Amino acid sequence: RRLGFVEPAITMQSGRPLNAADITRRMLSRLRDVMSGTGSTQDRLDRCVRIIAADLQTEVCSIYVRRGAELLELFATEGLNVAAVHQTKLRVGEGLIGDIASNARPLSLHDAQSHPNFAYRPETGEEIYHSFLGVPIRHAGLVVGVLAVQNRTARRYRDEEIETLETFSMVLAEVLARVVAEAAGGGGGRAPMRVSGTAIVDGLAMGQAYLHQPRIIIQRVVAENPAQEIARLDAAVTSMHSALDELFAAADLAAAGEHRDVLETFRMVARDKGWIARAREAIAGGLTAEAAVQKVQNDLRQRYATITDPYLRERLADLDDLTNRLLLQLVHDEGGPLYPQPAEMILVARNLGPADLLEYDRQRMRGVVLEEGAATAHVAIVAGALGIPLLGRASGVLGAIENGDHVILDADHSQVFIRPSVAIQEQFNQSAGVRQAQQKRYRAARNLPAISRDGVDVTLQMNAGLLIDLANLTLTGAAGIGLYRTELAFMVRPEYPDVTAQRDLYERILDGAGDRPVVFRTLDAGGDKRIQSLAEDDAENPAMGWRSIRMVLDRPSMLRQQIRAMILAAAGRPFSVMFPMITSVAEFTAARHIVDLERARALKRGLAVSDQLKLGAMIEVPAAVWALDELLAQTDFVSVGSNDLAQFFFAADRGSQRLAGRFNSLSAAFLDLLSTIQQRCQNAGVPVTVCGEMAGRPLAAAALVGLGYRQLSMTASAIGPVKETIRHLEVAPLHDFLSAAIRRGERNLPARLRQFLADHSVAVDKLGKVG
Ligand code: PEP
Ligand code: MG
Repeated sequence: RRLGFVEPAITMQSGRPLNAADITRRMLSRLRDVMSGTGSTQDRLDRCVRIIAADLQTEVCSIYVRRGAELLELFATEGLNVAAVHQTKLRVGEGLIGDIASNARPLSLHDAQSHPNFAYRPETGEEIYHSFLGVPIRHAGLVVGVLAVQNRTARRYRDEEIETLETFSMVLAEVLARVVAEAAGGGGGRAPMRVSGTAIVDGLAMGQAYLHQPRIIIQRVVAENPAQEIARLDAAVTSMHSALDELFAAADLAAAGEHRDVLETFRMVARDKGWIARAREAIAGGLTAEAAVQKVQNDLRQRYATITDPYLRERLADLDDLTNRLLLQLVHDEGGPLYPQPAEMILVARNLGPADLLEYDRQRMRGVVLEEGAATAHVAIVAGALGIPLLGRASGVLGAIENGDHVILDADHSQVFIRPSVAIQEQFNQSAGVRQAQQKRYRAARNLPAISRDGVDVTLQMNAGLLIDLANLTLTGAAGIGLYRTELAFMVRPEYPDVTAQRDLYERILDGAGDRPVVFRTLDAGGDKRIQSLAEDDAENPAMGWRSIRMVLDRPSMLRQQIRAMILAAAGRPFSVMFPMITSVAEFTAARHIVDLERARALKRGLAVSDQLKLGAMIEVPAAVWALDELLAQTDFVSVGSNDLAQFFFAADRGSQRLAGRFNSLSAAFLDLLSTIQQRCQNAGVPVTVCGEMAGRPLAAAALVGLGYRQLSMTASAIGPVKETIRHLEVAPLHDFLSAAIRRGERNLPARLRQFLADHSVAVDKLGKVG
């Protein structure tokens, strides 16, 4: 599909006759004059609603202002009962107004009252109005209010009217943002706040906030001189193009390759006339260049929310990036601030890719707070490896935080303090002291075995994926690397690494591990692990699509090269290889065949190959559990990838924020499955490890040991807490407890388990975050 296909979708309704633009421009100037004029805020907003209602010939025009994270308050109205002003309040998501605020999208209805979300508020007297049009009022990317008009007749608002209302909303944004901020801060300064989330990587950190995507604040919305604004836009577009040309001409990107296509597409989108024309039109309607680009960006973001086609989504994401570049340029040339990265940085973002995180200066990075982001996302794995505390699902944080705000991230207790009070800062210093003592305890125990009180010996290994992880082997006393995620190296490179590059990497890993065993997992690309240098499938369900072992079995040279690089790197030293996402025995056989070919090739060339090259399958797909006995007859070992296994077992996307709390890997059903796997492996005499994230959570690790698992592989920072937990355990009674709980289908297993451990003097809560 070519870009031409996209154009109708991203080029919005145009063709407004010029006189309409003239009218809008006049109106904009009038509104601007009112907004920047004298009188109280209330006065000015009251005048604005009257002007807008008259101009659009609507009987009602109302402004709702955001109050905190949750509420919207009727602030000014023409047409509704005046008594309802400051009385009528709707929750974000409630009613049509709440709908617009939560989706950040306009809503146009010819019969509002028949809409399922209509929430009737008798005090407003709105029952006589039928048609409704509302648009979000946005400031710096956040919804600060809603602007709505209504008519008695059941009329359908024209696209131009929607556009005009959106343009008007931009003029109101600045003043509304001030109202919102004043209410939140009780005056000039902004109040301290606490936002809770989900700890993804534990830890404590203090620093200054830095927003991953700059929040661009537009100072001037209404143009004095449209011709000058067009010239500013053109200059910014030209300079953006030359910056992109320069970027793409960089030596390491210039060579042909699949990534080249990605960049070329991006460049094509950049040159596409459609969206620039949209910005020019908005300037003709009276906006400044930056407000016009912002408007195009708002439109794109609205479209992004409704489009599911992956190709179009990619293009829209490209356009979002481009509009951001333009905005930065335009605001910067107005003298707007570009915020420098603080020396002690708490990075704040909606979501982050693993490569995004690596692009930041690690010396400055103290912690990460994500508005979304689930525990098994790959950024979590990278942050874990780097020991960067990470709080996910901190909903509302983007709205509450500004660049440079003082922040205390307390991932241990799943919370972040924004602009903390002195008392909180003192508390932080105390907690940091406790944490240091804890870390000292873990370090002191690093050479002690993970043996339970009743003598059960558990091997604790480490998951890794970056060279930087290797240092953690000695720091934590891990017995080896139970999972080396080879794809991370592919993900952070623009080029696909050839055999030599891969060999160098694997050699450094084996050298770094010394006598400790290493299990390399072969390339697990696709799904949420996007590799720039590989064209991937546009599957609707990427997690269940052409990925992982499926991809490399279809392109066997990829797997052959990887195995060849490993054999070369090992130079006769023992190592293990495991294959991800094995779904059928035939896949394992095919993969093993490729290893046999490479082994034979190496031997033929007189190279040393260890006879201890062990081959294993990851159990991540429920179908593999049903074929387990047959599979175990072929494998030297297996490793349970509980992240994916849970995802497919519960049919719940591991990265989905909405599902994250819903399906518990400590539920009786999932533990039953894990118990079956363990027993079958034990019967077959095949070693089994659990290497999903649950193995690194003390409560879950205790459950796994209780079920019979004797090898766990986890993120480095989890080894201390898990070892401490195991050393307090009595495994035999725990085993009985779990068997009984699974048999009776215990509904509240995590809480019962926690209680059971507490009753058996495992002071779980003292051992860091659990569960
Ligand atoms: C898993 O799925 O549990 C696993 C260990 O692999 P990854 O998280 O890399 O998919
Ligand atoms: Mg997996």
